[in-house]
Amino acid sequence: MEAAIKFCPNCKSNRVAFDRVKKYSCATCGWVFFQNTAAAVAGILEFDGKILAVERNREPGCGLLDFPGGFVDPDESAEEALIREIKEELGVEIEDIRYLCSAPNDYRYKEIDYTTCDIFFTAKLPTNVFIVEHSEIAGYKWLRPEELDPAGFAFKSMRRAIQSYKNKIIGV
Ligand SMILES: [Zn+2]
Repeated sequence: MEAAIKFCPNCKSNRVAFDRVKKYSCATCGWVFFQNTAAAVAGILEFDGKILAVERNREPGCGLLDFPGGFVDPDESAEEALIREIKEELGVEIEDIRYLCSAPNDYRYKEIDYTTCDIFFTAKLPTNVFIVEHSEIAGYKWLRPEELDPAGFAFKSMRRAIQSYKNKIIGV
């Protein structure tokens, strides 16, 4: 993991050390900052026995598949974050939200490295007709559980979640 902060925001010194995991500390003034792992959520959304996979239209992972979701906001539960993100991306309210698993992920955005703990849920979509928010999604496809191919997905956490989902749904 590369250091995102080169100068101390408190005293402007360049004597900022990064432990390459999460901790910054300034040798001049004693300032300390933890770049902690962020919580993120994603939904394996089912309708009529198929799962919605969306195509990413931006980096990281542009052109690869993704499950809808995003970062958890301050003062928000993981379930609330998932409901909000799906509403923003697809304009629908999901139902029957169930925890599936969690998995660590790395996310490089505009030259900055982030680490996340991705929390996966399964949920039911009330309809297969929705408006895709094209600022975030290039398109989508419907896949049966056995058609979920981890290699087509953008993130390592999703590849792990797919395995977990398949174990649960089809026992492989
Ligand atoms: Zn300082």
